Amino acid sequence: TTQIQLVSRPTGWPTPENFRTVEVSCGDLQPGEVRVRNEFVSVDPYMRGRMRDARSYVAPYELGTTIGGGAVGRVVESAAADVPVGALVLHQHGWTDAVQADASTFRVLPELPGVPDSVHLHILGMTGLTAYVGLTRIAELQPGETVFVSGAAGAVGTAVGQIARLLGAKRVIGSAGSAEKVELLTGKYGYDAAFNYKDGDVRELLAKAAPEGIDVFFDNVGGDHLEAAMAAFNDGGRGALCGAISGYNTTEKPAGPDNMANMITRGLTLKGFTLASYFHVAPEFQEKMSGWFAEGKISYDETVVDGIENTVDAFLDMMRGGNIGKMLVRVGEP
Ligand code: NDP
Repeated sequence: TTQIQLVSRPTGWPTPENFRTVEVSCGDLQPGEVRVRNEFVSVDPYMRGRMRDARSYVAPYELGTTIGGGAVGRVVESAAADVPVGALVLHQHGWTDAVQADASTFRVLPELPGVPDSVHLHILGMTGLTAYVGLTRIAELQPGETVFVSGAAGAVGTAVGQIARLLGAKRVIGSAGSAEKVELLTGKYGYDAAFNYKDGDVRELLAKAAPEGIDVFFDNVGGDHLEAAMAAFNDGGRGALCGAISGYNTTEKPAGPDNMANMITRGLTLKGFTLASYFHVAPEFQEKMSGWFAEGKISYDETVVDGIENTVDAFLDMMRGGNIGKMLVRVGEP
């Protein structure tokens, strides 16, 4: 199998030298093990955090080991009755074209006719659940409210806008990093307003897009976007702090909001969260989302890069905004 490993810890933007591609051969299948050929491998912003040697909510990657993360694949050999050959499975074995491991590390997924298997890595999986948890459990969105989503054209962001609307938001506003993404937000994803944050001062752009203020902020970006939201919040506004990608690859101290006093004068609540503490919401999410999905109420986009050997490029391209919706690596035929 071809696997991608971390060999040194990046400072600032990761470079190809931080990684290596290795060929690993699997031994004979042991009782209880399965062998899986991956179809899609996920590249996600949180992986940048795990490349650091710092304590966080997930352990750092160990140098010289394969980068772990979400992937879906098919079982090609099995010595475990409950994970048979042909089953579609989700796992966390990460950046590899194939994997052999104990059957308990794989979750068998339902087959959804007419839908690519990759949806389990985003809209029906981790990023969809993140959007749902942030809106319902953290921001406690109420019908009739105005929602602002940063990083709106990404995997989590595209889910947030749609779920907010389905939960009764009155007005949904998004920001993203290109004119094409902005058009997609107001067209395909039904946003009431959207702006390209590269077009000017985010505070001014948001004030124009949200003349009546915002009640809920779903933040994927941090920094200038958080500052803009602080200025736009109505009384009692709530922010779900999901990510702060504007600072993930910077070596300088990222710019922070200079207007936190609004927290006091407007009675605001900001609450950070990591999905790991909210997996118990998954059954509720799956029930709601599979219903919306079956009714054709949910759209999604994927940006697919071919070949496991291109995973590092896909990861870096995602960090730079090269993706619309979920960035995925499609694993080629063996
Ligand atoms: P995305 O699909 O949104 O991809 C990342 C996007 O970030 C890029 O496409 C780019 O879009 C944008 N971006 C990069 N740099 C900047 C910048 N300086 N300012 C503004 N936008 C920038 O990734 P995900 O949907 O997987 O993740 C989105 C966020 O959610 C991340 O912050 C991630 O860490 C967080 N997250 C948190 C979880 C949790 O449990 N709390 C779980 C999952 C994700 P553009 O072209 O618009 O710049």
